[in-house]
Order: sequence, then structure tokens, then C-alpha cells
Amino acid sequence: MDIVWFRRDLRLHDNETLASAVERGEVLPVYCVDPREFAESEYADLPKTGPYRARFLLDAVNDLRASLRARGGDLLVREGPPEERIPELAAEYDADTVHFQTMPATEELEVENAVKAALPEATDYERYWTHTLYHINDLPTPVDEIDDTFTPWRKEVERNATVRDSVATPSAVSVPDAEFGEVPSLAALGYDDPTVDERGVLDFRGGETRGRERLHEWMWEDDNLRNYKATRNGLLGNDYSSKFSPWLAHGCLSPRYIKNEVSRYEEERVSNTDTYWLVFELLWRDFFQFQFIKHGAQFFYPGGIREVDEVWAHDETAFERWAAGETGIPFVDANMRELNETGFMSNRGRQNVASFLTDVLEIDWRWGAAYFESRLVDYDPCSNWGNWAYQAGVGNDSRDGYFNVLSQAERYDGDAEYVTHWLPELADLPATVAHRPWRMGPEEQARRGVELGVDYPEPMVDIERRYEELANAR
Ligand SMILES: Cc1cc2nc3c(=O)[nH]c(=O)nc-3n(C[C@H](O)[C@H](O)[C@H](O)COP(=O)(O)OP(=O)(O)OC[C@H]3O[C@@H](n4cnc5c(N)ncnc54)[C@H](O)[C@@H]3O)c2cc1C
Repeated sequence: MDIVWFRRDLRLHDNETLASAVERGEVLPVYCVDPREFAESEYADLPKTGPYRARFLLDAVNDLRASLRARGGDLLVREGPPEERIPELAAEYDADTVHFQTMPATEELEVENAVKAALPEATDYERYWTHTLYHINDLPTPVDEIDDTFTPWRKEVERNATVRDSVATPSAVSVPDAEFGEVPSLAALGYDDPTVDERGVLDFRGGETRGRERLHEWMWEDDNLRNYKATRNGLLGNDYSSKFSPWLAHGCLSPRYIKNEVSRYEEERVSNTDTYWLVFELLWRDFFQFQFIKHGAQFFYPGGIREVDEVWAHDETAFERWAAGETGIPFVDANMRELNETGFMSNRGRQNVASFLTDVLEIDWRWGAAYFESRLVDYDPCSNWGNWAYQAGVGNDSRDGYFNVLSQAERYDGDAEYVTHWLPELADLPATVAHRPWRMGPEEQARRGVELGVDYPEPMVDIERRYEELANAR
């Protein structure tokens, strides 16, 4: 009998790990709830996993169990570090082989190496690469020699590699008798049930079932793919951009499945730049996964993979104002409040708040990345730390530029609808004023009913002057 150890591959579709094990006969599917995932983060005084992602993960584990049960199987759930639980189970069930997904980031690799080292002598292991669009073994250039810049890498891959076919979903799963255990509740992991903020873009609930439903709704029912590129920089509502990221991050959706659905859509409906662009974005995701294999722990260094010699500030008070959405710069605050209230933020928002932290406040980008790690429902180590390093000017594709959050706000939120959605205290201000409330003198503040320092924070920095300094320094 073999063990299938589920990790960030919480799905039955296109899951080679599960399919290969099931082909060999009886299997014991296992998920370990690792207490380290819920412990305190290294940088900030926060849990590594915030409440929205914790809930999403438990949803996904419950959904996986239900799907396995529907095929005659089950999912054994144990709390504890995988390097203890998996070898114990291998010994108890006299397992021939443990099948598992291998992952690129350092902590995940350490865990799998520890599992391998602790397995009983009679138990073998098989690792599978199952979370990217292109398989690591199909890259035209070996992963440790790939280009550090996205565009040449993407072009080479598009020209010289092909995406493998998806793996069929097993129709039946046969499991031994076992004490399958309970999926812990959120409360048992120390969380209150997170409130659902009606203002959020989507109520993100985990699991393969919900992930596939989201794809069906967004792509097929609401027919959004045909306009994806044109709308993906949006900030409000569930239609701009796919919102597939939490399901991709937990492995509830396979990128190959998404690509196949895009191809089907292109055949049945329309094929245009917008439809291609979703696959293009999945390539960005792949790129950061492969970069992590290439550079390893260097991704977590302050100077990043470029070894930039930059002294970062460590001002805790300023950082806390940024994190709480209390900077007094509305576009930054609205995005941070959305993140705090829902676990999600648009890509446009992420770029802007990251640039504000690192370019305007010059605070250590790793604090920002750790904050996102805790808060994001779609946290993925490679996408998160890779994008943060990029924004901070120390990573892949980094240029020495910055985002001017004021012009970005005026460009992407011209009527201040987004800002006032998350900062209702500014709702009565005209759009131009809502983006720059500090321009109001005391009289105008009184007339408009928004007193800075009382109803909404005074700006923590003279941001217009700061952008002049940054522009002059170039
Ligand atoms: C500072 C910062 C931190 C980020 N942290 C994360 C993270 O922890 N997890 C995460 O999945 N994404 C992260 N991103 C990338 C991106 O913001 C999100 O993937 C995207 O906003 C998710 O929304 P969506 O699924 O609607 O995206 P869509 O626009 O619909 O894109 C489709 C998919 O492509 C992938 N993708 C798109 N853009 C990127 C990108 N820049 N890098 C990597 N993959 C991308 C995602 O898997 C996404 O689901 C980060 C970006 C920034 C600037």
C-alpha cells in the first residue's frame, strides 16, 4: 500500500501524485495540519497564516475529503509536522511508497527533505512537480541556468516548450481501514471566524469544487475572458481579473486545467489578446516558481538576488501605520484596509502599496512581504517574495523606478469610487480632493465635514515633495 501526502495540491483533477499512486492500488491519502503554518511570523508580530487563509485552507481540506469519499476513498488528517506524522504512518501501515508534491521554496523543501530522511527503510518515495503550467523537466534551459529576466525566459519557453496534457482524475480511490481523524475547526487552531465584509470582491472559500465553479462563472457564464487584459487593472467588483490566485496557491486549481479551458474558450467563443493574456499571467507565476529553485534562500536577503547594497529603515511606528491603512494617503489606505478586511488586494493595489513602503518610506521590503504573507488569502512564497523583491528593486526584472501612488490613483480610480468604497469617511469629497485630502485648508475641511487628524489621518509624509525628490534623484 502507498501513501499520498497532500501538500499544496488539494485537488483530484490533474494531480499526477494522486493518479500515479492510485494506479498502483490501495492508497492512504493524508493531510498534515502543520502547527508551524499557524505560528508567529519571523518578521512581524503576526501569525504566519491570517484568518482568511486559514479558513480557505480548512475549506479546501474538507472539500478534498468529500471528493475522495465520493470516490470510495477518504482523507486521513493528522495534526503535527509532516516529518513526524508521515514516517509514523508509513511505519504503521507498512507503506511501500510515499507519493508527494515537491515545492520550490526553502521551508517547503526543508520539510520534504526531513520527511524523506525520516521514512522507514522499507518505504520508498516519489516526488512530483505538479503546480506549474510548464513542467520543470520540459524547460528548454535547465532551471539553474534560466534567464533572470521575464521576457527572454517567456519567449524561449513559448517557442521551445510545450505544456503537458492534464492527468485524468481517478474515478475510484480504494483506501485501507483507518482512523481518518477530524479536520480541525478554525477555533481549534486559535482563530475567530473571519467576518465577511460585503465590500469585498468575492467571498473566497477554499476547495477544488469552489475553484472550478469560480472558473465556470467568470469565464463561461459571465464571459469575462474576452475582456481580461483590458479590465485586469480594475479595483472593484468580482469581474475584473480572474481571482483564481487563492485556488492556484492551494493547488485547488491546476494551471494546466485553466490553460485547457482558455483553449476551449478560444475555440468556442473568441481568441484574442485578452484570452492569451491569462496564459501570459500564468507564465509570470511559473517564472517566479522556477526563479526560487534557481536562487533559493537568496530571495529572502535584504539585497535580494541582485545583491543590492541598500540600507532599509526599520521604523516600526511608520510600518504599523502602513499596515493598518492609516498613512493618510487614501489610495494606500484603501488598499491596505481591503487587505485587512478581506485577505485580498488587486495586483494594481499590491504594486502601489509595496512601492509606497519601499520607495517613499524606504522601509525593509521584507517586513511588507511578511505582512502580506500573513494577510493574503492567495499567499504563495514564490509569487509573494518574488513580486516584493521586484517592487523593492532587488529582484527579477527590477528597474530603479517607483509607482507614484497619486498619479496611479488618479489614473485607475479617477472618480475615487474605490477609495471611498474602503474609506467611507471621504465619501462626500470630490474625487480630486479624495485622493489628496491634505490640500484642504481648515475652512474647507470644516465645510466638507472631514477634519484631518480626527475623521481621517493627517498624511504621515509630505508625499508630493517626496515624489519631487525621487524624480530629481533620477
Ligand atoms: C507585492 C506583490 C505581492 C504579491 N503576492 C502574491 C502572492 O502571494 N500570491 C499570488 O498568487 N500572487 C501574488 N502577487 C501577484 C498578483 O498580484 C496576484 O496573483 C493577482 O493579483 C491575483 O489576482 P487574480 O487571480 O485575479 O489575477 P489575474 O490577473 O486573473 O491573473 C491570473 C493568475 O496569474 C498569476 N499572476 C498574475 N500576476 C502575477 C504576478 N505578478 N506574479 C505571479 N503570478 C501572477 C496568478 O496566479 C493569478 O491568479 C503579488 C503581486 C505583488 C505586486
